[in-house]
Amino acid sequence: MSKAKDKKLKKLKKKSIVSQLVGVFVVILVYFTLAIGIFVLFNMNLLYNKVQVGYDNSVRIKQMISTVIKQNNSMKLNETCKDALELTPNTEAICIYSANKDRIYKSKNDTPNGDYEFDGYSNKDVTVLLTDDHSSMIYAYYEDAEDTENTEEETKKVSVEVQLEKLLDELPKIRDLAKIGRMWDQNRVANLKLWYCIYDDKTDMYVCIKNNLPISATEVYITVAIVGIIGLIAIVLITFYVVSIIKLFRERNKLSRILETDMITGGKNFQYFIRKANALIRRKNVKYAIVLIRLEKYRNFCSCYGVQEGEELMESVYNYMRKELRRRREVLAHGDKADFAMLLEYQSDEELDNRLLALVDRIEKSRIHQRIYFSVGIYAVTDATEKIRTMYNYAGIALSRLTDDSECRLIRYDEEMKNQELWKRKVENDMDSALANKEFKVYLQPKYSTRDEVISGAEALVRWIHPTEGFVPPFRFIPLFEKNGFIIKLDDYMLKEVVKLQAQWYESGKKVVPISVNLSRAHFTRTNLVEHICEVVDKYNLPHHLIELEVTESAFFEDKVTLLSTIKGLREAGFEISMDDFGSGYSSLNSLKEMPLDTLKLDAEFFRDKEFEGKGKLIVGDTIALAKKLDMKIVAEGIETREQVDFLATVDCDLIQGYYFDKPMPVEEFEGKAFA
Ligand code: C2E
Ligand code: CA
Ligand code: CA
Repeated sequence: MSKAKDKKLKKLKKKSIVSQLVGVFVVILVYFTLAIGIFVLFNMNLLYNKVQVGYDNSVRIKQMISTVIKQNNSMKLNETCKDALELTPNTEAICIYSANKDRIYKSKNDTPNGDYEFDGYSNKDVTVLLTDDHSSMIYAYYEDAEDTENTEEETKKVSVEVQLEKLLDELPKIRDLAKIGRMWDQNRVANLKLWYCIYDDKTDMYVCIKNNLPISATEVYITVAIVGIIGLIAIVLITFYVVSIIKLFRERNKLSRILETDMITGGKNFQYFIRKANALIRRKNVKYAIVLIRLEKYRNFCSCYGVQEGEELMESVYNYMRKELRRRREVLAHGDKADFAMLLEYQSDEELDNRLLALVDRIEKSRIHQRIYFSVGIYAVTDATEKIRTMYNYAGIALSRLTDDSECRLIRYDEEMKNQELWKRKVENDMDSALANKEFKVYLQPKYSTRDEVISGAEALVRWIHPTEGFVPPFRFIPLFEKNGFIIKLDDYMLKEVVKLQAQWYESGKKVVPISVNLSRAHFTRTNLVEHICEVVDKYNLPHHLIELEVTESAFFEDKVTLLSTIKGLREAGFEISMDDFGSGYSSLNSLKEMPLDTLKLDAEFFRDKEFEGKGKLIVGDTIALAKKLDMKIVAEGIETREQVDFLATVDCDLIQGYYFDKPMPVEEFEGKAFA
């Protein structure tokens, strides 16, 4: 699975749950804020009205007794107060204080809690004392009510509002639902008892009146009803969301199961492997290995027996492997194509090898009439924080080292592979800057004519002069560049450098010989290759025949149609084309017939053979004769001895390139040799 796909799936899984949870959280938050707000406002309003009623009542009584206080007749005062208490059922007690805070009258043994209430207020302030049944004191003050009549109204308001907040805290009866319930039961009402001490400016006294403010059952019912409705809605809401979250989790699990199911084997896929393996490898004191088991030649099997039979085979292989697992401690999944990923515990390398070999052996033998076989790559987990995919790739890298003729079917990722991997990363990191900094140098290896042994051509070969690694030979980076595509840039660079050199020598009247540059097969995916090469060469006005292009033999097995048209185009433009490394791989004489080529470069392998003396000579001789008949020039590569040179002269080889004459050399050295 690609990384992007992987990410998308993870996001999909996460997104649904996260957005839903956030949604639920927001709805519940908004609901509770609104519900509590409404409830508090309602209660505040209720209390506000009560306090207001008490205040109005107190003012009225104060007015009733104000004139009597002035007369200073205690008998009359006593009577008037008694009348007032009788006339106003909400009034329970009356107390009168002088401006010096001396009590001059009390109707009962009931006073607004001693002197405390007057502390800290100036004479002109009117103190309002509010107390509940338990005599806890709540107090505030009115501004002087002297100024205008309206001020009284305003100050009244201020006082009541200031008090409300405290009142809410101080009135357990109102908020205590259990008690409200009881009240409801007995059809009783709650009594809110408040003292109001009002300054009377006519007498310069404080008149304190205790009010009993009943809260009716209806008011309690409404409060209970509001609480009930809010609670009910909350229960419904919460239940709804709990149910939907449970549903969501279920769906997510279902989605996970689907996403982690392999469509071919019906088992688990690599997604699952990553998740499970990640959790398991963190276990302490357990050694783990990531294993890649590849069913080899699966495609051949499918072409032989059909895709369905192939998939059934994969399923049965998966099931065999699954039985091998230690439950809950090891993981198995179907990876790419015919690959299986396993995370296995192990004690020693030997024990793991034996276990795996026995497993694949058993599966191979289970197919009586079909020949199947496996290869196994192992990566021993050393760092539990490393990505599972990376470690699995390491097992794959190890596996790629096994060739068809390898004796062993099992290979583990080792130090050398690790170093190569590090080197690969380094090369990929450094390559762009290397090109920009001109760290790649052109080396030239002369080609000598067999007949008179003079320089008649050369091949441009790249060398990397790395700032820290020093001289790096091509085999350490060319294969990597061929894989990652950078070879196109490098070959372009080499071509330009060679063209510049040739043009410079050509213009200065030197006896210039054709120089060949290597053209990797990656170039043949470019549709404008011919135009591009012409453009580079024409920029320096260099005759085309002075540049030769070497195309490696393996390119001839790929897209033949494109290759043929490009080669034709290049030849028509006047460039010579060589087939490089002829005879090194799966040579096809057909490609000689099909491709219009100028030169055939016999691979050095021809001359490395111990049997060169016998059959080797025969093959080289006949290949040269055949190429000649096809009107091609022959270059023999890798020639290291005089005997080889002499032999090549007898079989009419045109050019010789090899250490016998020269190794690839820097440009200055080549100039010295070629134009001496
Ligand atoms: P190649 O194109 O077959 O180049 C010939 C290789 O054989 C060169 O190796 C050369 O140094 C080596 N050689 C020549 N004569 C002898 C000999 O007598 N004995 C032995 N043992 N070796 C000899 P080099 O330079 O290491 O290049 C290796 C390969 O790297 C080249 O093989 C070519 O495939 C690739 N390469 C080098 N430069 C470039 C380049 O600029 N572009 C591309 N695409 N590939 C390049
Ligand atoms: Ca070459
Ligand atoms: Ca070659």
